[in-house]
Amino acid sequence: MLIEKAARDLAAARNVVALTGAGISIGSGIPPFRGKGGLWEKFDPMQYASIDAFMADPEKVWREFIGELKVVIDNAQPNAAHMALARLERLGMLHTVITQNVDGLHQAAGNTTVIEFHGTFTRQRCTDCAALSATRDVDLSRLPPRCWCGGVLRPDWVFFGEMIPSVELDRARQSAAGCDLMLVIGTSALVQPAAYLPVIAREASARVIEINAEATPLTASVSDYLIQGKAEAMLDQILGALEALRPDGPPHPG
Ligand code: NAD
Ligand code: ZN
Repeated sequence: MLIEKAARDLAAARNVVALTGAGISIGSGIPPFRGKGGLWEKFDPMQYASIDAFMADPEKVWREFIGELKVVIDNAQPNAAHMALARLERLGMLHTVITQNVDGLHQAAGNTTVIEFHGTFTRQRCTDCAALSATRDVDLSRLPPRCWCGGVLRPDWVFFGEMIPSVELDRARQSAAGCDLMLVIGTSALVQPAAYLPVIAREASARVIEINAEATPLTASVSDYLIQGKAEAMLDQILGALEALRPDGPPHPG
C-alpha cells in the first residue's frame, strides 16, 4: 500500500520539505483557482488578480474580489491536512513548508518554518508607505480601504504580473535542493516557478511524493508516486501508519 510506503519513506528521510497548493485548503472552505468551483470560473484573473487591474481600479477589485476573499479567509480554520503537517513538524519529521497559499493556515495550525512563496493575504500593505496591517482588522465600510497615511491598502501577496520576492525564491530553491524527500500536496503544478521546485528536489536525488485528488503534470515524470485522494484523509492515514511503525507501536492499541 502506498500509504505504508509513504510512512516508511518519511521515517527514513532526514530532511523533509512539503510544497503545498490550494488543494490543501479546499477542506477549509477556500476555493481553488482552477477547475470546478474554482475562483476563475467567476473571476477573470487578468481583470481581478493582476497588479495592472488592481492599480487601474482598486475600488472595483476590492468590492468584487478581495472583499469577498477577506470574508472567506478571515473565517477559515486549518483542516486535518494542515494539522497533520504541524504534527509532523512537532515529531521532528518535517523541516519546512513551502506554500503557494496565501491563507496563513499552516501557521495557524502550528507550523513554524513556512515559506510563503506567493506572499500572504493575512496582511495588507500600504501602497504608499508600505505599513502592514492585519487583514482581519481592515475596515471595509469605505472602499478601497486606506492606510492612516491615505494610501490604498493591497494584499501583501504576489499579484499576477509581479515578481516572487527574491528572498522567498532563494529560500524555497535552497530548501528544495537540500531536502531528501518532498511531499507535494494539493497543487496542480501549473504555476511557475513554484511547479519547478519538485524538479529541483528530484534533480538533487530526493524522493517526490505527490498527494492530490488527481494526477498532475509532475505525476508521470517527476514524482516517485502519487497518493490519490483528499489531503485531509491521506495525511491522516500516513500519520497513522507512521505511528504504527514506531518500535512501541501505536500509542493507543486497538
Ligand atoms: P490549483 O487551484 O491550481 O490546484 C489545486 C489542486 O488541488 C488540483 O491539482 C486538485 O486536483 C487538487 N485538490 C483538490 N482538492 C484536493 C484535496 N482535498 N486534497 C488534495 N488535493 C486536492 O492550485 P495551486 O496549484 O495552488 O495554484 C493556484 C495558485 O492560486 C497558487 O499559486 C496560490 O497562490 C493561489 N491560491 C491560493 C489559495 C489559498 O491560499 N488557499 C486558494 C486559491 C488559489
Ligand atoms: Zn500608508
